[in-house]
Amino acid sequence: MKKERVLITGAAGFLGSHLCDRFVTEGFQVIGMDNLITGDLRNIEHLMHLENFEFYHHDVTKFVHVPGKLHYILHFASPASPIDYLKIPIQTLKVGSLGTHHLLGLAKNKNARILVASTSEVYGDPTVHPQNEDYWGNVNPIGPRGVYDEAKRFQEAITMAYHTFHGLETRIVRIFNTYGPRMRLNDGRVLPAFIGQALRGEDLTIFGDGSQTRSFCYVDDLVEGIYRLLFSDYAYPVNVGNPDEITIAEFAEEIIKLTGTTQKVIYKELPVDDPKQRQPDITRAREILKWEPKVKRAEGLRITYEYFKNLPQERLYEDANHKSFEKYTVK
Ligand code: UDP
Repeated sequence: MKKERVLITGAAGFLGSHLCDRFVTEGFQVIGMDNLITGDLRNIEHLMHLENFEFYHHDVTKFVHVPGKLHYILHFASPASPIDYLKIPIQTLKVGSLGTHHLLGLAKNKNARILVASTSEVYGDPTVHPQNEDYWGNVNPIGPRGVYDEAKRFQEAITMAYHTFHGLETRIVRIFNTYGPRMRLNDGRVLPAFIGQALRGEDLTIFGDGSQTRSFCYVDDLVEGIYRLLFSDYAYPVNVGNPDEITIAEFAEEIIKLTGTTQKVIYKELPVDDPKQRQPDITRAREILKWEPKVKRAEGLRITYEYFKNLPQERLYEDANHKSFEKYTVK
């Protein structure tokens, strides 16, 4: 077993919990941290009894202390869905800014390497397609997504500043739409929204006319890209995502086929500043990390659907958010 210790923030979240799994499997001593605002302990329950996993219930926007040595930090704490940004905008801003500052300070103190989770949202509603890392983005700072987008842009800025000014070992991953087991069923994201609707026997809600595009990456592929980036020597941002682009209308059709639902598609108003198209240019990841996604959407969706289908029935109704998007839509 490796003696190296890694701190993973957002450990009880979708991506954080999969990263915990990976680092535990690789033999690291893993410290998971989460304030459980959007995270769910059920995502890491299976790790709790392990000797090489411990969990701290802590909010990283407050001073972070971890006793003992620390070799790596992965900062994955953040709300990450448009509904969350509208419900908890201040926390979203604070975790990307103050939280990142605390973790950079901790990394400096411990002489640890830190990888921060950035996002395709730094590109905003992009005017360049596909998006490569040299594109500076098209972000509305005061729109509903601004609290997330600008926090993540600040996060990149302060991370680079710690790298250049303090010589800290830093890594920045720009994550594109990712899916898989343990996504929060009712957080408003399109995949759990559609699958949840199919399982509850509701119509599938397409926002706008469904011509907007996204490119969905299966979580195991993403984790592999992040793992490679952490152990690379590259400090500049790297896009990690799947370039296989699809319209939301086509995506709804795929979910209808997959689930066999007899419900129909209904159209709702497009949320403000909803990006029209998104596809990662992963040339840099291919070259530097020798990485590209392997899991085809049909396969990833099948695994993800199995997961949701096998959840206890009451979880489908757990969070009223699935009915409340309109309430939070800023007109
Ligand atoms: N979307 C939709 N119906 C839903 C939820 C989302 O049509 O029930 C759309 C949403 O407007 C966006 C796309 O699906 O264009 C992806 O939304 P998601 O919230 O998953 O991620 P993001 O917009 O941040 O990529």
